[in-house]
Amino acid sequence: MTTLAPIEIKCLCCGNQFHSREVVSTNSLGPVTTDLFEMAAGQQPIRYLIFTCPDCGYTGISGEEGPLDSQIKKFVEEKISPRLKEEEITSGRSWEFMALINEAKGLDDFAVGSMFLRAAWCSWLDGNAGDEPGYRRKVTDYFEKALNKEIVLEDRIYWTKYLVGEMYRRIGDEITAHKWFDKVTQMELKHPNRDFWLDLARQQKTEPKEYVREPASPEDLIKEKRSLLKKIFNMFGRNA
Ligand SMILES: [Zn+2]
Repeated sequence: MTTLAPIEIKCLCCGNQFHSREVVSTNSLGPVTTDLFEMAAGQQPIRYLIFTCPDCGYTGISGEEGPLDSQIKKFVEEKISPRLKEEEITSGRSWEFMALINEAKGLDDFAVGSMFLRAAWCSWLDGNAGDEPGYRRKVTDYFEKALNKEIVLEDRIYWTKYLVGEMYRRIGDEITAHKWFDKVTQMELKHPNRDFWLDLARQQKTEPKEYVREPASPEDLIKEKRSLLKKIFNMFGRNA
């Protein structure tokens, strides 16, 4: 299970102090979606990795060192803070702010797109159908720009092209999705997981599924809990 602990954050932008929670430990026992969201069993750490100041909207990681560039402060004041009056800070919104602020800081298109991908995953987790398609479209925009600029690492090219296709599929643009899945299956670039990517792209084009690894059934969860208890029991038994 994911363990959280309280944390106090001092906002680098406005100096406000606020309470939040951070991830102390987590696991990778949860399902994996076909948009490549590797979930934990229990609480999802993705909700607690970044922190949004409730006063100004500045978003960052814990332990980030200042001072903050005055241009970024201005950016937050003009582009982010006004939105707090009308919009709720959901975990998807936090990742959107993170993406926008880091783009203003000069982060590349691939990294900004990866932050929007987290915004899309969070909106999907929250059942926030209003925000989800917009974030998925942002992922395609930034990843396509990154591919055109050839800044995507070779190791990530299958991952990136496949995800662009899957983003289009999830927003209902089947024609563009199929174009991208075809790009994946036509790629000849060597990669240790090439077969996995080709099979997945073919599957999502012809018989799309929502999960690469399905959520555990209640019976599986009970089995997992039993084996965890057994492990703990053995651990204490050994140390006694
Ligand atoms: Zn602040």
